[in-house]
Amino acid sequence: MTEVGHILMGATVGVLCRPKALTTKQTVVHMAAFMILATIPDLPFKNWGHDRYYFSHSVFVTLLLIFLFLLPFLFSRKLKMQIGGALVLAGGACSWLSHLLLDSFYNHGKGIAIYWPISSARLALPIPWFDVATGSSLHIIQVMLIEFASYSPILLLAIWYKFKMSEHR
Ligand SMILES: [Zn+2]
Repeated sequence: MTEVGHILMGATVGVLCRPKALTTKQTVVHMAAFMILATIPDLPFKNWGHDRYYFSHSVFVTLLLIFLFLLPFLFSRKLKMQIGGALVLAGGACSWLSHLLLDSFYNHGKGIAIYWPISSARLALPIPWFDVATGSSLHIIQVMLIEFASYSPILLLAIWYKFKMSEHR
């Protein structure tokens, strides 16, 4: 999955978890955080990302890092409330974990080593129209457009749902 798919999925989770009372500036920070969380496994750090695919895309490593990330919020109610509470924290974890699921959708069928280091089994849920973004620039743009066309309706649905829910309060 390119960052287009991951960012749109992070934005979708961010919309669904957005606390009602946020200002515009807080909403921008909230949404940016969710989009970044969804791309963490691919961030170009040393010994991370697709250089160490098995490590950065392991569900066990991801859960450990999420736990370490959440620790300060678990011990400080004030800190937790500043970012919007438990729903935002759970949503952030879901946004990060969504990356692993989306990467399993590649149509090459190789899957991702999600169970490392416990097992070398791979999770592969190939969807025919999700190609790997390699080769010519035209092909990469085509892959990104397909991801945009696939995930933007889900984001729009989340926005619509959130809007409808706010009308009933
Ligand atoms: Zn990835």
